[in-house]
Amino acid sequence: MRRDAPSEDVLRVQAIAKSLGFRTSNVSGLTKIAVAIIGDTSTVDSAVFKVLPSVDQVLLVTRPYSRTSREGHPEDTLVDLGDGVAFGGGSFVIIAGPCAVESREQIIEVAHQVKDAGAKCLRGGAFKPRTSPYAFQGLGEKGLEYLDAARKETGLKVVTEAMDLESLPMVAEYADMVQVGSRNMQNYSLLTKVGSINKPVLLKRGSSATITELLMSAEYILASGNERVVLCERGVRNFSDHARNLLDLSIVPAVQRLSHLPIIVDPSHATGDMNLVAPMAYAAIAAGADGLIVEVHPKPELAKSDAAQALKPDQFAVMVAKIRQLAKVMGKKV
Ligand code: PEP
Ligand code: MN
Repeated sequence: MRRDAPSEDVLRVQAIAKSLGFRTSNVSGLTKIAVAIIGDTSTVDSAVFKVLPSVDQVLLVTRPYSRTSREGHPEDTLVDLGDGVAFGGGSFVIIAGPCAVESREQIIEVAHQVKDAGAKCLRGGAFKPRTSPYAFQGLGEKGLEYLDAARKETGLKVVTEAMDLESLPMVAEYADMVQVGSRNMQNYSLLTKVGSINKPVLLKRGSSATITELLMSAEYILASGNERVVLCERGVRNFSDHARNLLDLSIVPAVQRLSHLPIIVDPSHATGDMNLVAPMAYAAIAAGADGLIVEVHPKPELAKSDAAQALKPDQFAVMVAKIRQLAKVMGKKV
């Protein structure tokens, strides 16, 4: 508050804080009077103080994402998918597979290929969020059945996207980890519902979301009872035209300072260009990421979506071999 604030203005701030259930403590400085409002302020809109007379600024000391924050939870969270596949705690987990499940043969073939190269999880969308309503939308439940068949053949864990509330229960039944795509990062009813399922969640950053918005979206899932959340950086909108998005790698160490949740990187959607995928994957492990999600297609030229960014299985294997080398330097287990 301003140094010249009349005492009734200061008392008013204190009274309102008290009526909301907080304690207060004042410090008079040279240019300001600081009123500390003490308690769990996460449910209060700071604007109720900002609009009061003589209030100069309202500074949030406690972060608004209490469950996602490291403040009350200093140790890293381990998101365990079972059978030795866990995100966080020094492991580097590679999820790989096609953009979309296209056929039983395609997903089983690529599952074997990515497993042989070192992936621990298989990706592939059965429900695809496409920009065009005329583009391939995914195989739906058939796609989930094919993922299940690939899991049974290879032992890989299945990561697949739930696009909406309607398909979520079905996706959660088949998936080992449910993906919430970037377009849905702020679909709060979906996040709340995902919080009530008993499956780990991969939450992808929205293409124009700030770190606070990403962590607040995770908070929705945690607040609804599901603490098994892995975050994913997948590139943000920008003005360059050499890549699909701008891979914002500094968010990896920034998230790790603020939150106990693991964070992985998607170099495929971040670049949209198979020539850029491996270099960005190397950069991701160097930045301290907890894993990767990478698009691999047995025949990229036949892919029904995201062909330009799909690695061929042999390219993927070369990339994983190099990542194993980098993992030694970074002290990670692939
Ligand atoms: C995906 O991973 O299949 C996908 C659609 O990615 P994003 O949500 O990041 O665009
Ligand atoms: Mn894709």
